[in-house]
Amino acid sequence: MTHAAPLIDPFARPIKYLRVSVTDRCDFRCTYCMTEHMTFLPKKELLTLEELDRMCTSFIGLGVEKLRITGGEPLVRKGIMTFFEGMARHLQTGALRELTLTTNGSQLVRFSQDLADLGVKRVNVSLDTLDDQKFAEITRWGRLPQVRKGIDAAKAAGLRVKINAVALKGFNDSELFDIVDWCAREDHDLTFIEVMPMGDMSEEARLGSYWPLADLRKQLAARFTLTDLPENTGGPARYVRLEETGQKVGFITPLTHNFCESCNRVRLTCTGELFMCLGQEDNADLRAPLRASPDNALLEQVIRAAISRKPKGHDFDYSRQKVDGQMSRHMSHTGG
Ligand code: SAM
Ligand code: SF4
Repeated sequence: MTHAAPLIDPFARPIKYLRVSVTDRCDFRCTYCMTEHMTFLPKKELLTLEELDRMCTSFIGLGVEKLRITGGEPLVRKGIMTFFEGMARHLQTGALRELTLTTNGSQLVRFSQDLADLGVKRVNVSLDTLDDQKFAEITRWGRLPQVRKGIDAAKAAGLRVKINAVALKGFNDSELFDIVDWCAREDHDLTFIEVMPMGDMSEEARLGSYWPLADLRKQLAARFTLTDLPENTGGPARYVRLEETGQKVGFITPLTHNFCESCNRVRLTCTGELFMCLGQEDNADLRAPLRASPDNALLEQVIRAAISRKPKGHDFDYSRQKVDGQMSRHMSHTGG
């Protein structure tokens, strides 16, 4: 692979991490993410699997070392294993250091072994509750036993599982220790995510369910000794170790600015728009230059121009009891 000059943004941050949404569709309808009756994009708007491969391969040629595949639900995209097979070749050459995905877990029984065979080492599984009924309520269409079987299959295939739980006041605050204990028993890493102002949940519902992670952390500290871990992944997660169990717990607080200065990532939507920041509307259309020419020169030029506009940070702010900086996009579109 040619090694062009790496992507560096105007704040001297090297761009090494690309999150790619491979579909806007999903077999669940989580209340904080989608409406019950979503209108999805017409298929022709989506990048084909071949186009996704070309796009990712170009980014890898420009220095991206870590790819996270997301959606929508990435594992419901037809033929998605062909795409993973394609990316596996970059793992083999060493150009790509990590290939991972974020999934709701519904299809892991089917795909875990294939993913592991292709060189995927870790999966993030989103799971907000351990109660069957509450799970059906929050995901609308999801069923917990199916996801639990998927998680077991991932483990059996040798994949490391990280559980992502959105912290929701009045919903899973009562389950904090159940979730932590379950992860300790099962040896899953665990990360809590603050709910973000996206999609079209009403402002009232969103503020009502907003559970600040500072408060969650305080509750954890009442039972465990927390040691801050220095790791910085370039993303919005901060980690602690619970000394009594040795487990690692992460906190993703996208509403604070404490991570923007080290942000090394950009996001590609399933239609080929490149978002330089999760919290800003500015984006670049990469699909047109990709389709305009079989050669990647134009595409790379547009990618570089986009990275040169990567903003310093985002504008989300709940602090004045008002959802400022609200984004109209759904997470399933940008890829969470
Ligand atoms: N379907 C996959 C899944 O659920 O893991 C991947 C896509 S989903 C959009 C990625 C992550 O975004 C999930 O962990 C989900 O909980 C999170 N998410 C969705 N909407 C969110 C919101 N409004 N605030 C915070 N996290 C959100
Ligand atoms: Fe689907 Fe993931 Fe959104 Fe839930 S959070 S509706 S599983 S894309």
